[in-house]
Amino acid sequence: MSSHSKLLEDVKQHLCTCAAGLKLTPDMEVFLEVPMRELYVSLPVHMDDGSIKVFKGFRVQYNEALGPTKGGVRFHPDGTMETTRALAALMTWKCALHKLPLGGAKGGVICNPKELSHREIERLSRAYIRGIYQIIGPDRDIPAPDVYTNPQVMAWMMDEYSKLAGRNVFGSITGKPTSLGGSAGRYDATARGGLYTIREAAERLGINLKDSRVAVHGFGNVGYHAAYLAKKLYGCKVVAVSDSKGAIFSPYGLDPEDVSGHKHSTGSVLNYPGAENLTNKELLELDVEILIPASLENIITEENAGNIKARILAEMANGPTTFEGEAILNSKGIHIIPDILCNGGGVIVSYFEMVQNQSSTQWEEEEVRNRLERKMKEAYCSVYDFASKNNVEMRQAAYTLAVGRVVEAMQLRGWI
Ligand code: NAD
Repeated sequence: MSSHSKLLEDVKQHLCTCAAGLKLTPDMEVFLEVPMRELYVSLPVHMDDGSIKVFKGFRVQYNEALGPTKGGVRFHPDGTMETTRALAALMTWKCALHKLPLGGAKGGVICNPKELSHREIERLSRAYIRGIYQIIGPDRDIPAPDVYTNPQVMAWMMDEYSKLAGRNVFGSITGKPTSLGGSAGRYDATARGGLYTIREAAERLGINLKDSRVAVHGFGNVGYHAAYLAKKLYGCKVVAVSDSKGAIFSPYGLDPEDVSGHKHSTGSVLNYPGAENLTNKELLELDVEILIPASLENIITEENAGNIKARILAEMANGPTTFEGEAILNSKGIHIIPDILCNGGGVIVSYFEMVQNQSSTQWEEEEVRNRLERKMKEAYCSVYDFASKNNVEMRQAAYTLAVGRVVEAMQLRGWI
């Protein structure tokens, strides 16, 4: 099975594990296993050398029972409809788990942004919005950033949507720059929200976060802020970080800001002065208290789960642990903070951005952080309490709560 189908299979398996507890009929389960709407688009883009290149893109609106769908757009050479579908399902469960009035979606374009110029990325971003314009909008489906897309890309997308609509529609896209209706605190919201769940978990497991060793797999938007905030908020010792080229390790702890400067000037975290180079595989197996996958899916599998030593696995990436890998981690008593719980901070603050756009206002960063903290704490407590009460693992608890809310909404709407 390809790694793309694997994520989709695993997401279905998790749904299946909670189906009996929720008394889902086979028909309901089949409905929840498939997206409500999918769109393939071909995007002709004028390249800087005068040629025209056609890119393939997708948008999946998985389930809209709870509200307009919402989800990021990923620019990646390995993007597929299957991965997009799985990520859209995860968004659906995530929004429901965090009690947001939103359904789940995801989008993507198959491309390698590292090989595209600034202007080519702009033309591609605009072409993508023209391609999916008919099915998106503030009351329908609201795109946001994901892997290799950023606030600048969101600004172009919002501008393109506004041009097509013939008026400013700031609420059509979230994750925008703050000068264009973006929310304060969106840039580090996913990592910050994840850190709040780590704090809750550490309290319950009796782990003192001060000087706890942390390894972060992936040093992009989420991974960098996770490393930075782990040190800044709780005094953790960030002993290892990695990017697609490899990992670095220092038993004395790294300075994430300085490593970020090194990555910007050299193109990678590798060869950071005073640190040892490691492989990504070695990073995952380090002796640490907290492991934070913040890169891509299917990173922790049956092959390496047995070697993982962390006490807390905080899934800031989507789908980093395979179904089989998770069973091994569970048997070792590793506390997993599942992706739909751990990385919900991004969509929570994106939702705050929508609320601010609708009322033409901008909240202070402190207000955003306080609201985010409350929501993350509430979600963590509900999952932890459900898991303890029903003697199930954290992921099953999270899925049961989330899917149950989507099912209830579908029943109330008379769909099922
Ligand atoms: P990003 O593009 O900013 O960073 C991705 C990082 O992963 C980069 O450092 C890249 O070098 C690294 N990477 C890629 N392939 C790798 C590999 N094989 N091994 C090690 N590192 C690798 O993306 P991001 O926005 O930080 O997203 C990271 C993860 O978090 C994704 O799973 C994404 O879906 C999830 N997520 C992001 C947000 C958000 O707000 N951006 C919200 C929720 C979940």
